[in-house]
Amino acid sequence: HDAAAFIKSQVRTIPDWPLPGVQFRDITPLLQRPKTLRVLIDLFIERYVEAKLDYVAGLDARGFIIAPIVAYELNLGFIPIRKIGKLPYKTVSESYALEYGTATVEIHEDACEPGNRVVIVDDLIATGGTMMAGKKLLERLGAVVVEGAAIVDLPDLGGSKLLRENGLPIYTVTDFP
Ligand code: 5GP
Repeated sequence: HDAAAFIKSQVRTIPDWPLPGVQFRDITPLLQRPKTLRVLIDLFIERYVEAKLDYVAGLDARGFIIAPIVAYELNLGFIPIRKIGKLPYKTVSESYALEYGTATVEIHEDACEPGNRVVIVDDLIATGGTMMAGKKLLERLGAVVVEGAAIVDLPDLGGSKLLRENGLPIYTVTDFP
């Protein structure tokens, strides 16, 4: 696919960041130019325009850049899923394992209604832990999580496979095996 190849070509790889041995896939070049931003957002719009969604949820923090643009263009609302301690109202939370320690994410308990159809958007899927926690939060509110979407998949880390095996369809624009 031409658009996906174009997007992949504009992802910047930063060696040894934030730690030695990590190849960080930097999506900021996609945001910087109007052409890449439009091609990127249009891929998500084409994917979900007929999906009968009620909300687009975004994962803190880089999912917050993409998801609201998609929500706006689809005439939908946006739901933030945030790192612990950031949401002011009553929350539901999920913790998950990281390589070292744990992380916790939260959602407002009134973020959506039971039966609402929601897509979760992030920039990248690695181990899938963040996306899985988002799925669990939305399901605890009774939502139907239609799909998890990201710009980049790192398939060797197994996250997208694990998520699919747990019943969450996954859409990514491109991947870096
Ligand atoms: P996971 O929970 O799937 O292991 O990690 C995915 C989360 O970590 C996403 O929220 C993503 O923003 C962040 N992340 C991990 N590695 C990278 C990377 O190489 N590039 C970017 N842009 N984000 C990353």
